[in-house]
Amino acid sequence: MAKNFIIANWKMSLGHEQTLDLVDQIVQQIQPSDKTEIVVCPSFISLVAVAPKIANSGIKLGAQDCFWHDEGAFTGEVSPLNLKEIGCDYVIVGHSERRGYLNETDAMVRQKVKAALENNLVPIICVGETLEQRQSSSKDFIIMQQVNKALAGIELTAQNQLIIAYEPVWVIGSGQAVEPSEAEHTTQVIRQVLLDYFPLEVINKRIHLLYGGSVNPLNIREFLSQPTIVGALVGGASLEAKIFWQLIKALE
Ligand code: PEP
Repeated sequence: MAKNFIIANWKMSLGHEQTLDLVDQIVQQIQPSDKTEIVVCPSFISLVAVAPKIANSGIKLGAQDCFWHDEGAFTGEVSPLNLKEIGCDYVIVGHSERRGYLNETDAMVRQKVKAALENNLVPIICVGETLEQRQSSSKDFIIMQQVNKALAGIELTAQNQLIIAYEPVWVIGSGQAVEPSEAEHTTQVIRQVLLDYFPLEVINKRIHLLYGGSVNPLNIREFLSQPTIVGALVGGASLEAKIFWQLIKALE
């Protein structure tokens, strides 16, 4: 049976000590399961300290971003090679907060996807429409365009996996998720685009489609019971060990 994914994006919400406390609580409460892949994405400053804490827990480590070169004169950037070296298996790319606040473009997202894959990191590519784009009825077109631009010329080796998370920008952090059936419609649109790039077998086995945006213990089950949605990218509800644990329990 295919695995579910629960990916915690802690953004810049916690200090270093708070992050370590949360990780300790999560490791104590959460048993590894072969049904669900649990990934935590702390901020860069805490990655090195979190890695040994989760090393034998079955929980995986992810970063919130990476640069597209492995090394060089790129002040302030973080190398995907170094992320792999310190124990990351996943990296979020193209989160709407980076697209919005830092003008990250689709072309930059594509370069990051390529660099992540070359370093055998699983890129978690975030796509989603703003409220204005939605209101102008261009949602599906925007999503197709973001996926197309992120994947142009990208090849997957036999080791590579890919995650695409549909995250409607206007529901992130709002407490109000979209209807699961609508998220399912959008992940089906994404799957349709994927068919232009990869064989069906690769899509079925190594590309995973997630929903993100105000997921909580009460709604997660309905999202993950949709046919093409196999996981959730979670912000707010992943910041407390008890609620995080409830998210995982809700799937059992
Ligand atoms: C996110 O920012 O990726 C996210 C899904 O946040 P939230 O769950 O808080 O809406």
